[in-house]
Amino acid sequence: APKPGWTDVEHWLTETVVKPGPEHERALQTAVERGMPAIEVQPTAGKLLHLLVRMSQARRVLEIGTLAGYSTIWMAQALPDDGHLDTLEYLPEHAEIARANVAAAGLDNRVEVHVGTALETLPTLEGPYDFVFIDADKQNNTNYLQWAVRLGRPGTVVVLDNAVWEGALLDPEVDETNTPGIIAALELLGEPPFDATVVQTVGSKGWDGFALAVVR
Ligand code: SAM
Repeated sequence: APKPGWTDVEHWLTETVVKPGPEHERALQTAVERGMPAIEVQPTAGKLLHLLVRMSQARRVLEIGTLAGYSTIWMAQALPDDGHLDTLEYLPEHAEIARANVAAAGLDNRVEVHVGTALETLPTLEGPYDFVFIDADKQNNTNYLQWAVRLGRPGTVVVLDNAVWEGALLDPEVDETNTPGIIAALELLGEPPFDATVVQTVGSKGWDGFALAVVR
């Protein structure tokens, strides 16, 4: 289990370095009020996504797994005025809450929330996307990576959340639902056309990590 110190340090870093705005707090708060699971990325990771979008000078972003729009807001804020973000969510009530949070953040002109299972929505989208963030049902991770390549271009940045999952990759029997999809995704990321690594994280979301990749 993570040491309490890790979460304390995360809170300190959030207040001192990340400095979330009221629009970020609103997205977290509505999620709690509406009884959604607290499975959004932590603030330090939201800011990491924001910086990665900016560092890669992405103009078109694809997100798979919206929830209340928390990571959506962080990424959309990193886009230029003519940028666009498509985010995919299969629960209509999550999509509705996310739309309200995105609008409250003044980002509704750049963000489209698509309702439906991602595998049904993906074929309706047109690439190329510069940046893809995958954070939905882990069983479909490899399908989503393949779609990221199909809707991407050489140089597209791909970020996959929950790559470490409390170390489950070494102990698949602990979570037989999600772990196979996580392991399969990491194996795929180890091969062309991906160039990838994984950053392990600890803190309020336990022991986890991000896979970071670029499409060759
Ligand atoms: N990216 C969000 C954030 O950090 O703020 C968190 C996303 S949450 C971990 C995963 C979301 O994916 C949930 O809202 C869930 O309803 C949605 N989801 C699960 N399976 C899906 C599917 N097959 N297609 C689209 N969305 C799906």
